[in-house]
Amino acid sequence: MHVRKRLLPMAPPLFPKNRLFCPGPTPVPEAGLIASLNINEYHRSSAFEHTFKTCRDWLAPFFGTSELPLILAASGTGAMEAAVANLTGKDDPVLVVNAGKFGERWQKICSAYQCKVQCLEVPYGKAPSPKDLIKCLEASKEKPKAIFLQANETSTGVFFPLEEITRTLRQSYDGLIVVDAISALVAHEIKMDDWQIDCVVGGSQKGFGVAPGLSFIGLSKRAWRELSKRPRFYFDLLQEAKGQVNGRAAFTPATTLIQSLHASLKILNEQPLEAIFEHHRRCANAVRAAAKAINLEPFVTENFSHALTAITVPDQIDAQQLIKLIRSKDGAILAGGQGNLKGKIIRVAHLGFMDRLSLISGISALEFGLAELNHSFSLGAGVSAAMQILK
Ligand SMILES: *Cc1c(COP(=O)(O)O)cnc(C)c1O
Repeated sequence: MHVRKRLLPMAPPLFPKNRLFCPGPTPVPEAGLIASLNINEYHRSSAFEHTFKTCRDWLAPFFGTSELPLILAASGTGAMEAAVANLTGKDDPVLVVNAGKFGERWQKICSAYQCKVQCLEVPYGKAPSPKDLIKCLEASKEKPKAIFLQANETSTGVFFPLEEITRTLRQSYDGLIVVDAISALVAHEIKMDDWQIDCVVGGSQKGFGVAPGLSFIGLSKRAWRELSKRPRFYFDLLQEAKGQVNGRAAFTPATTLIQSLHASLKILNEQPLEAIFEHHRRCANAVRAAAKAINLEPFVTENFSHALTAITVPDQIDAQQLIKLIRSKDGAILAGGQGNLKGKIIRVAHLGFMDRLSLISGISALEFGLAELNHSFSLGAGVSAAMQILK
């Protein structure tokens, strides 16, 4: 006879509910949910085209550019691929910063597109220093056509000192700088024009509080001038730009997501940008304080992200088991580590539409889970530490 084995006897929660604390997807505001229910929208109506154009206008301040970003129907990686396809040619030398899973993704895309990829490897948990980049440039035989990096490495919770990096690079480098800011936008200030970044990539399900499926890409004037001659079709950005000036995507846009984006951006635009960034900074500080108060250590010491916090769990606790437990008991979804960090860290996102009460519930879910696994700490200490910072 077959005996079903149960490792942990986990009854379903009494009140099932998903509570998102992972770095994408993030919580969607009610106005966004309601807007996305309008499924019978025609994408060539003037009302929809107006919505589309408004979204582009409202996205621009987060990118810090006067060149309006394009909206693509694809997950964030689609816009990353669009950047590589439109800005590099076959055999172009490129430099990729690899400080985690998403740096690795740049490397993979550039390799797939047959660029000559030089890689600056940065240890997990650290940010590249401007000096490292300059050294790397000086050591390369050919000037890279483009440098690809993240603003925020989501796999480790590190924010790169982007302003310092770009300012230093621009003293000697006049090629393209391409930044994957998918998990940084809305949490951190990005000034594409001021910092002379040529391409910034974003995604709907991170800071913007929209379900997955949209990505954004902003190009500088220089980038528009230096488009490569590769064959491309769906991600032909010049083709997109021609129609999107009038709110018309080249192909059928994801109408429900665009309407949801419009609702999110409307809310975000009612706040000064600084207030939004300050909120994210406080959330990051609150989670870091909470971690310490419950005898855990934040994984990142310097250059920590304001979008998410990676926390090291003690050896005797398996992070994956902890995450499963928290999810099954309270429906709270935290993320684990990726690659060789799997089982060693948990990641708590505080990105986008995460208010302080929600964040506190996430910390309490973590405490409940830790208590069940007999971690030694005083129950409620994390919540209390977080409240001190969020008050
Ligand atoms: C989420 C994310 C992506 C894109 O992932 P998709 O699953 O394609 O949306 C890329 N880069 C970073 C830094 C991210 O956080």
